[in-house]
Amino acid sequence: MTRKIFRSILLVAAVTLLASLIVILGIMFEYAEGLQEKQLRAELALAARAVEQSGADYLAGLSAGDDRLTWVAADGRVLADTSVDAAGMENHADREEIRQALETGDGESARYSSTLTEKTLYYATALSDGSVLRISTSQATALTVVLGMVQPIAVVALAAIILSAVFARRMAGRVVDPLNRIDLEHPLDNDAYEELSPLLNRINRQHLQIDEQLRTLEQKTDAFEQTTAGMKEGLVLLDDKGMVLSINPAAQRLFGTDGSCVGQDFLEVDRSHDMSVALRRAMADGHSEFRAQQSGREYQFDISRMESGGSVVGEVLLAFDVTEQASLERSRREFTANVSHELKTPLQSIIGSAELIENGLVKPEDQPRFIGHIHQEATRLVALIEDIIRLSQLDEGLQAALEPVDLYAVAEEAVSALQEAAKNRGVRLSVSGKHAHISGVRRLIYEIVYNLCDNAIKYNVSDGSVQIVITDDGRHAGIRVQDTGIGIPAEHQSRVFERFYRVDRSHSRQSGGTGLGLSIVKHAAMYHGATIDLKSEPGKGTAISVTFPSESGADEIPS
Ligand code: ADP
Repeated sequence: MTRKIFRSILLVAAVTLLASLIVILGIMFEYAEGLQEKQLRAELALAARAVEQSGADYLAGLSAGDDRLTWVAADGRVLADTSVDAAGMENHADREEIRQALETGDGESARYSSTLTEKTLYYATALSDGSVLRISTSQATALTVVLGMVQPIAVVALAAIILSAVFARRMAGRVVDPLNRIDLEHPLDNDAYEELSPLLNRINRQHLQIDEQLRTLEQKTDAFEQTTAGMKEGLVLLDDKGMVLSINPAAQRLFGTDGSCVGQDFLEVDRSHDMSVALRRAMADGHSEFRAQQSGREYQFDISRMESGGSVVGEVLLAFDVTEQASLERSRREFTANVSHELKTPLQSIIGSAELIENGLVKPEDQPRFIGHIHQEATRLVALIEDIIRLSQLDEGLQAALEPVDLYAVAEEAVSALQEAAKNRGVRLSVSGKHAHISGVRRLIYEIVYNLCDNAIKYNVSDGSVQIVITDDGRHAGIRVQDTGIGIPAEHQSRVFERFYRVDRSHSRQSGGTGLGLSIVKHAAMYHGATIDLKSEPGKGTAISVTFPSESGADEIPS
């Protein structure tokens, strides 16, 4: 800007100087011309009077100086001339000034030399005898004058331009200095130039607007950070170069990093091949996802491309902990495989026996045994299908209405249903304790008691016993089924609640077990928010307790 102002001032000064010089020269030239004309006319008047009196003698007596006098007769003949011999001169009747003088008494004209650098001025006046006296002088043209003054003009112009340059530099500095000192942080505190007020006001308004926008942005950022800080899922925002823009605490924990990774390449935070492939794929296709193990848990990573105004601005990565979901999916897959296997075994056994009978390969006396076998396997199959249906209902989140349930009454009902089976195996059944009331689904609680008692009978010894004790301490109500059976070895105790897990497969099959009884107990207990406790000693017996949150106080049972 300083340079621009400097150049402008200098240019104005130079143009002004040039224009002034031209005007001054013009005026001077015109003044000189006027003066010369006046002098010549005065000289001509004097000479005319002298020629009137003395004739050609006067002219002969004059020396040939700057101004030349020519006396011309009325017919144009040159009578005398102060510079040239008149006899040798041609007729002057056609000369402009002579013609005018002959016609009007006075005449004048000017003629340029061939180089245009010199001009001859002619003034003529008629004498009383009809002849004409002419005076002429050469005059330098304006061009000659200018050419002659080039040197002094150049010196003056140079001096003026140097002065202008110094002045222009100072001026430019003085103009720009207040502008340089303007404090744009506080636009209204400046008093540099009045003309700048509208601009400074506008800057001030923009400052206020920017401050407002910054405040809003900060509020939004805070809200975003607070929201993402509370998220269970890991969230990472990346820019279009893959640099971390934001990473929430869950993602920091997951990738074992902290907030300092913001601004870093995300592939330095997670160097896995799967991650780099997924990020590239999301950039290309818009979305990608993959699962990976991280810190002993399974995560699902969903990556989406972010776009704004038609151009890619980055990627957003969401990490979900799917450990439970994955294990559920795994156990579902295992369950399906197990169900197929469990259903196939009794069916193959039934088909095998039926084929033998059909082909007459079974002796008539053996037929009742085979038919009994078919019946037993079919019964097992039905029991198995019923258990599968029960478990599926529990898996799908059974929506049954809660009702007041008396655990003691349910236990008595189960005992009466199993009395026959217990008698057949030589096992004694007894119920004791209190009438404990809970809020629950009666059918499910019956399943719990029935399955626990059924196992206690199945895995008992002859002349053994099963004791069902109902407890209630005011805060918790519970059922304890205690037997004197074969017990469960310690290494199996944590697994017997898994689907189709059996300690002794053949014993279970023999006694019509499906391998699902304790799974049903576990799910039914979970449905009621109850806890299960198993205590068992091989060869001595097993005690399984299910503890429910109690609904009301218990009534003592008279012994
Ligand atoms: P099953 O139909 O085979 O009885 P469960 O799920 O009810 O299936 O039981 C799983 C396994 O746990 C049984 O196969 C058995 O080995 C063991 N078990 C369950 N209850 C008892 C018990 N009271 N005494 C000894 N073993 C038991």
